[in-house]
Amino acid sequence: MTFKHDTRPRLPLSDQQLLRYHRQISLKGVDIDGQAQLAAAHVLVVGLGGLGCAAAQYLALAGVGRLSLVDGDRVELTNLQRQVLHEAARLGQPKVHSAAAAISRLNPDCQVSAMAAMATADNLTDWLAEVDLVLDCTDNRASRNLINAACHGARVPLISGAAIRLEGQVSVFTWGAGEPCYACLSRLFGDQELSCVEAGVLAPVVGLVGSLQAMEALKLLLRLGQPLSGRLLLIDGLTGQFETLALPRHPGCPCCGQAPAAA
Ligand SMILES: [Zn+2]
Repeated sequence: MTFKHDTRPRLPLSDQQLLRYHRQISLKGVDIDGQAQLAAAHVLVVGLGGLGCAAAQYLALAGVGRLSLVDGDRVELTNLQRQVLHEAARLGQPKVHSAAAAISRLNPDCQVSAMAAMATADNLTDWLAEVDLVLDCTDNRASRNLINAACHGARVPLISGAAIRLEGQVSVFTWGAGEPCYACLSRLFGDQELSCVEAGVLAPVVGLVGSLQAMEALKLLLRLGQPLSGRLLLIDGLTGQFETLALPRHPGCPCCGQAPAAA
């Protein structure tokens, strides 16, 4: 897999940065070179709710050099139970501005771009030309299918997460030969769609799923371990069980199948 960060200039890390990221640099497979790769990386986070807040804070702390944040919503009181980058003083502000302010305090090294807009096919096309990978942290199937189609078209890796009640799921789409896309998975859900507005969600569940999305992103950027591509991780908080299922490509998938539907 090639990333745009491979061809961006890599600046030497300062003494402060070597110390700040020491616990990560000392990991086998990261080292100073890996940390410099993260500093050159640019990640798009779509959705700054529970998943996006958790994922973005770890990407920023881990030293990802550039984050672009996209969300059209504003901070509401009901968000504060689980969306860790927002706070009462920023109620009513666009979520991306609230999250950008919090991230800049967590790690001033991280360059944050905030776009207070809903993702559309057009604006995604522009953003995907710039970024190394995308985290889908949205909460509805229409947005997820839109992001999936855009990432599939641009061949930009996509890390998808979802959380509801005490349940979560994570998968990674890297567009290798024979690999599935998000639409291969979402077709299994039928027409039923619950949101955490109706069904509720326990605060740490979004933190868990968002953290796993951040981990998969760092693994891809560093080419570390085995990504969750072609697999679906299911989390059941009620029983404390994690399960990984094979996720096959569906030949009739409207996005990645042999006869894609007209756009
Ligand atoms: Zn598909």
